[in-house]
Amino acid sequence: MNNSRRDLFKLVGVGAAAAALGTTAIIAAPATKGAGKGTDKLLGKHQVLIIGGGWSGLTVAKELKKIDPTFDVAIIEKNSKFISCPMSNAKLGGVKGIDMAFLTHQYAPTKAKYKYGMLNAEVTSIDRVAKVVHTTKGAVGYDMLVLAPGIEYNYKGQFPAWNDAKIAKARKLTPAALISTEHEGFDKIVKGMKGGDFVITVPAGKYRCPPAPFERATMIANMMKNKGIKGKVIILNETAEVAKGAAFKETWKDLYPEIVVYNANSVTKDIDFAKKTITYEETVFANKDDLEGVKTTKTIPYAVLNFIPHNMSHPTIALSGVETTKDGFKKVKMATSEAKPVSYQTASDASVYAVGDVVGHAIPPSGQAAIWSGKVAAKEIAHVLHGKSFSVASVLPFKSANVCFSMVNSNPEQGIMVNHEFMVQGPVIGSKGSVPKGDTVNDKFRAASFGGATRDWYRGAMKDLFN
Ligand SMILES: Cc1cc2nc3c(=O)[nH]c(=O)nc-3n(C[C@H](O)[C@H](O)[C@H](O)COP(=O)(O)OP(=O)(O)OC[C@H]3O[C@@H](n4cnc5c(N)ncnc54)[C@H](O)[C@@H]3O)c2cc1C
Repeated sequence: MNNSRRDLFKLVGVGAAAAALGTTAIIAAPATKGAGKGTDKLLGKHQVLIIGGGWSGLTVAKELKKIDPTFDVAIIEKNSKFISCPMSNAKLGGVKGIDMAFLTHQYAPTKAKYKYGMLNAEVTSIDRVAKVVHTTKGAVGYDMLVLAPGIEYNYKGQFPAWNDAKIAKARKLTPAALISTEHEGFDKIVKGMKGGDFVITVPAGKYRCPPAPFERATMIANMMKNKGIKGKVIILNETAEVAKGAAFKETWKDLYPEIVVYNANSVTKDIDFAKKTITYEETVFANKDDLEGVKTTKTIPYAVLNFIPHNMSHPTIALSGVETTKDGFKKVKMATSEAKPVSYQTASDASVYAVGDVVGHAIPPSGQAAIWSGKVAAKEIAHVLHGKSFSVASVLPFKSANVCFSMVNSNPEQGIMVNHEFMVQGPVIGSKGSVPKGDTVNDKFRAASFGGATRDWYRGAMKDLFN
């Protein structure tokens, strides 16, 4: 491992970076898109540069360094610390010992242990021709780029009539809390709840962690029940799909029959933040052959609203200019060929890879899938760097590639789970899930063993990312 490369981000200026690299410094090209916020000062160049130090980006960095410690790897991450989304709902639910400290992890020890670089800055533009990423702190060159920026909310796509001020209000007063930096603020809003209804919306289309809104509704109901807070948890699901549906519905009926109210096919039309009301259109279908249904518009008050808008790939993907799907989410199009039917390489650029929630594979946008994908993508990139061939299809089908638990009760701790197998499905990685019953004696989905497994899974995932 070249020490000077490793410590490159500590250096300043083009000359110093060039000296450290032992090469002629690349000249920072002017930013192509989104320029203006960053600076063009060249901080250095790396063999593999990863945008995003979340679940997938951290996995790729660590795995690459485990495969070959001489690889020169660096991450650009805008946050100074890592906060986990998984288990944040258990915190809202008042599950014992789960607080912000439990969800928070520091980057420095892992970065030092595996000797990858990390720049705490925000990417402002990407020049794929010059192979330079511009950030708020300077420019960084790369041989191979990994896009791992996660999601953003698509308020504008969902509500074209909303202006920036209204969107800012939604973000502040009714946060979606699917992004790690929102958990602390959202927790305070929930803690301030004295009574009345907690309303949560579930978006249509691809969104981060399909069971998360239902897990959150369940955990809030658990908290309200335990604290004796009077009110309902009203779920407004834009579609009729419920991840781990049978297991959640059984739990709501058994444990929270007076609290959880579930509404399918309920599309948010507007929110009045001053009056604290939400207006939605509910469609009730008579049977499966009824394609039109009967539509009713309703306006209901809320004490706390967890408005989860449509999700989309983080705008960093648009900055990179790689091809995406045309739908609202804008998934990254992945490369496919006869030799390598499925891949983490993007379809647009052989030097650019994508991992995590943004991928165009038909796999769940989950932390566990991000870890699995991060490991496989690192293998694929390492082979290229070593001048060897590797097809992701060679590790498929893969049983239990995504195992996802949800805590549904805090006393006793009980959980439910889904298990996904990944396989080659045409040009993408596909998945098939199953929801097992954890308590075979009582014939129930939820089980104490799954409650324990929820904690074990989180411990294991944090080991994967940080140990
Ligand atoms: C409430 C909740 C519960 C969940 N529970 C589970 C669970 O039980 N099990 C499970 O497997 N998954 C769960 N998930 C899903 C999981 O959190 C995500 O799927 C996972 O975080 C996706 O990883 P990622 O690397 O794609 O994105 P992230 O982990 O979000 O990482 C992306 C990183 O990129 C950074 N970034 C973005 N743009 C830039 C830029 N321009 N410059 C610099 N940095 C940038 C961001 O700051 C972020 O740190 C849950 C999610 C939520 C919201």
